[in-house]
Amino acid sequence: MAQHDVVIIGGGTAGITVAARLRNEGVTDVAVIEPSTVHYYQPLWTLVGGGEANIDDTVRPESSVMPKGVTWIRGSATGVDPQAQTVSLDNGESVGYQWLVVAAGIQLDWNKIPGLTDTLGRNRVSSNYRYDLAPQTWDFIQATSSGTAVFTMPPGPIKCAGAPQKIAYLACDHWRRRGVLGNMDVHLILPTPGMFGVPEFAAGLKKVAARYGIKVHFESKLNSIDGDNHKAVISKLDGSEEETLDFTMAHITPPQSAPDWIKDSPLADPESPFGYMNVDKHSLQSVNYPNVFGLGDCTNTPNSKTGAAIRKQAPTLVANLMAARKGAAAAKSYDGYASCPLITAKGKCIMAEFNYNLERTPTFPVLDMTKERWDMYMVKKHALPRMYWDFMLKGRA
Ligand SMILES: Cc1cc2nc3c(=O)[nH]c(=O)nc-3n(C[C@H](O)[C@H](O)[C@H](O)COP(=O)(O)OP(=O)(O)OC[C@H]3O[C@@H](n4cnc5c(N)ncnc54)[C@H](O)[C@@H]3O)c2cc1C
Repeated sequence: MAQHDVVIIGGGTAGITVAARLRNEGVTDVAVIEPSTVHYYQPLWTLVGGGEANIDDTVRPESSVMPKGVTWIRGSATGVDPQAQTVSLDNGESVGYQWLVVAAGIQLDWNKIPGLTDTLGRNRVSSNYRYDLAPQTWDFIQATSSGTAVFTMPPGPIKCAGAPQKIAYLACDHWRRRGVLGNMDVHLILPTPGMFGVPEFAAGLKKVAARYGIKVHFESKLNSIDGDNHKAVISKLDGSEEETLDFTMAHITPPQSAPDWIKDSPLADPESPFGYMNVDKHSLQSVNYPNVFGLGDCTNTPNSKTGAAIRKQAPTLVANLMAARKGAAAAKSYDGYASCPLITAKGKCIMAEFNYNLERTPTFPVLDMTKERWDMYMVKKHALPRMYWDFMLKGRA
C-alpha cells in the first residue's frame, strides 16, 4: 500500500492551493488524489452564461496546476478509515497517510429535481453549474425575446449562493439592451426570506430586481420540471402555494450536498442534513480526528461556499496543520470570510465581502462596496482569474 506524509483528497481550488502551500512550507511528501484530467475556474461560468467570457478560458490541464514535487494519484476516494489512517480508492487500492486534508468539493444533485436530467441542455433549460452547459445558457438567453424566464436557487447550502441570481440579472440586462425586456415575464425563485444574508447588499439587490421588473418568489423552490412541455412547478418551501410556470427559458441551480462517500464516512457531521464534513469552523481541523483537516465546499463551516473563502481558509489550514505536526495548538483562526461578486449587469458588480457574523469585510474600505461598480466588475472579469491561476494555485495569494 502506498503511504504518504500528507494526503489531500481533491485537486480542485482548495486541494491544489493547500498542496502548493504545503510544498512552500517545505513538506516533501504530499499526494493529491484527483480523478479529473482538467482543472476548472468555475467563477467565470457565470460570465460565460451571460456572454461575457469564453468557456475555454475556464479550463486548464490538471497536470499544469499540480505543484512540482507533489504525487498525483489519479483516482477517486471512496472512503476514509481514520483509525487505520487510510483512504480507499475506486480501483480497490488504499493509500495510507500521516495527515489527511479533505477538499473534495460539493456534489450536484441534479436527479433530486424530477424531470431535470432529461431536459438539461434542451428545451432552453440550462445551468451555469456545469462546464458543458454554461455556454448554452448564453445561447438560450440570446434565442429568447419574449415569454417567461425562470431562474431558480435550491434550499440548503450551495456553492456561490449569488450565482442563481447573477445570471438572471445578466439575462435581463441583455434583453433590456435589445429592447425586449418589456416582453419578458421573469421569475426568480429563492429559498431565502430576502435577497441576500447581509442587509446592506440585500437592499442593493432588491433595487436591481425591481429595475428589471423581476418577480421574486421568496421562501420558494422548484419541485419539478417538464422540459418538453415547458412547465416548471414551484411552491413555497413547505410545499404550499404550488404554481406551474409555462417557461420559455429556464436556468436551474441544482440541489447540492456533500459527496455521498463523505456522508457515509465517519468524517460526516451527524447534525448536517446535507452530510458535510465535520470540522472546527475556526481551525478547520476535524472535530473527531486531530490528524485530519478539511476545507472548501465539502465542509460544514457556515461560510458562503466560494473560492474566495478558500483563499483565506488555505493559509489557516496549512498553519494549523504545520503547528499540529509539532504538537502545538492551532496557529491561525478562520473568521468565515467569503466574497461574492454580485454581477448586476454587463459592467456592474456589487462586491459583497463578509464573515461568519455577516459583518462587511471590504478589501478596499475606502470604496462604497454596497453600490454597483464598474471597477469591481473589471476585478471580477480580469483580475480575479489572473490572481487565481498565477498566485492562489501557487500558494502565493
Ligand atoms: C457557476 C458558479 C459560479 C461561481 N462563482 C464564484 C465566484 O464568483 N466567486 C467565488 O469565489 N467562487 C465562485 N464559485 C464557487 C467556487 O468555484 C467553489 O467554491 C470552489 O471551486 C470550491 O473549491 P473546492 O476545492 O472545495 O471544490 P472544487 O474546486 O469543485 O474541487 C473539488 C475537486 O475534488 C475532486 N473530487 C471529487 N470527488 C472526488 C473523490 N471522490 N476523490 C478525489 N477527488 C474528488 C473533483 O474532481 C474536483 O477537482 C462559483 C461556482 C460556480 C459553479
